[in-house]
Amino acid sequence: MNDTQSLSSEDAKLPKHLIDALPRVQLFRDVDQALILPLLQQCNCCELDEGEILISPSQENKHLFIVLSGNLIVHLDGHENQALTCLDPGECVGELSAIDEKLPSAIVKATKKTSLLAIDNDVLLQMTHVSHQIALNLIFILVGNVRFCNQIIANSFEMQSSCLHYATIDALTGLHNRGWMDEMFDREVNRSIMSQQETSIIMIDIDYFKEYNDENGHQAGDQVLRAIGEMLRKPLRPNDMIARYGGEEFMILLPNTTSNSAMSIAERLRKQIEKMDIGKLNDRTLPCITISLGVASNLAIHDLHSIVGQADFALYRAKQQGRNNVASHV
Ligand code: GH3
Ligand code: MG
Ligand code: MG
Repeated sequence: MNDTQSLSSEDAKLPKHLIDALPRVQLFRDVDQALILPLLQQCNCCELDEGEILISPSQENKHLFIVLSGNLIVHLDGHENQALTCLDPGECVGELSAIDEKLPSAIVKATKKTSLLAIDNDVLLQMTHVSHQIALNLIFILVGNVRFCNQIIANSFEMQSSCLHYATIDALTGLHNRGWMDEMFDREVNRSIMSQQETSIIMIDIDYFKEYNDENGHQAGDQVLRAIGEMLRKPLRPNDMIARYGGEEFMILLPNTTSNSAMSIAERLRKQIEKMDIGKLNDRTLPCITISLGVASNLAIHDLHSIVGQADFALYRAKQQGRNNVASHV
C-alpha cells in the first residue's frame, strides 16, 4: 500500500458509510488509512436524532467526534438561538475536552439525523503516535479553533463598543445624551476643583415647542431638534461638551469659561437659531424657531445638581423675560 491508500469496506471490516466518509475527514487528510485501521476498528459509530445533544458543559467528554453525515450546531449554554458554528460531514468536535479532559464549554447538538464516528481520547493519542500526519492535522484543527475564537472575541468587542456608542448617543440628533453628560460632569467636577478655573453651563430650551408640534406636526418638531443639534455643535471648542439633556432641552458644558464668555456664547447661539432655516417638510417651508438660554458659572463646581439648578433658574428667568432670551443665574 502506498502512503495515502484508501480502504475497502470488506477488507477493513468497517461500516460502509464510514469508509465512504473517510476521504472528507479533516483529521485523516493525507493519512495512510491502512496504518490506522486497527485503531479505527476500536472506534464506534453512533447516530443522533434531530435535536439530540451530543456534548454539553454539564457532562464530561472523552471523545473526539467526526461528523460522517448530517449536521451539528454549536452554541453556548443559554444561547440556543445563536449558533456559534455548524459542523458538516468531515469536520470534528469535542477535541478540546477529549484532549484536556476538562468539561466542554459549549453545547453541540444535531440539527437533523446525524451519524458520527466517536474516537476515544486514548485511541486519538495512539493515532497521533502512529501517524505524524494525524498529529499535524490535529494541530491545524486546533489552530482553526483558535482563529475562530479570536474572530468571535473581535466581533464581540466590536459589538460592545457599538452598544456603548448607542448607549451614549441620542439617535435623533446624533448628540450625546444625558447619561453621557452626567458622566462627563463628574470628571469636570474633579478637573475644576484642581484647576480653580471657572466652568460654565448653558441650559437651552426650545420656545413654545408644544405649539410648534401641534401646528406643524411631530415630524416637523423632530426636524427642528435635528437642525438645532447640528447648529449647536458647530461653533464649540474641542473641550466643550454638548448633550440633548431632555426632550427639547440641550445642555452645553464649557470648561475654563467665565460667566461673561458663556453669556456671549449663549447670545450668539440664540441669534443663530433665531434665523436658522429649518428646511422643508412635504414641500412646505417650516417656520423658524427660537430658544431660551440660562447660564450658570462657578469657580469650583462641586456637584451637578447645584449648577444645573442655577442654570435652570436662569432659564426660567429667560422664559419669564419673554423667551428668545438669555439670562444668567446672578
Ligand atoms: P416653553 O416655551 O415654556 O418651553 O413651552 P414648550 O411648549 O416648549 O414647553 P412644554 O414643556 O409645554 O412642551 C415641550 C414639548 O416638546 C412637548 C413635547 O411634545 C415636545 N417634545 C419633546 N421631545 C420631543 C421629540 O423628540 N420630538 C418632538 N417632535 N417633540 C418633542
Ligand atoms: Mg422644556
Ligand atoms: Mg420648551
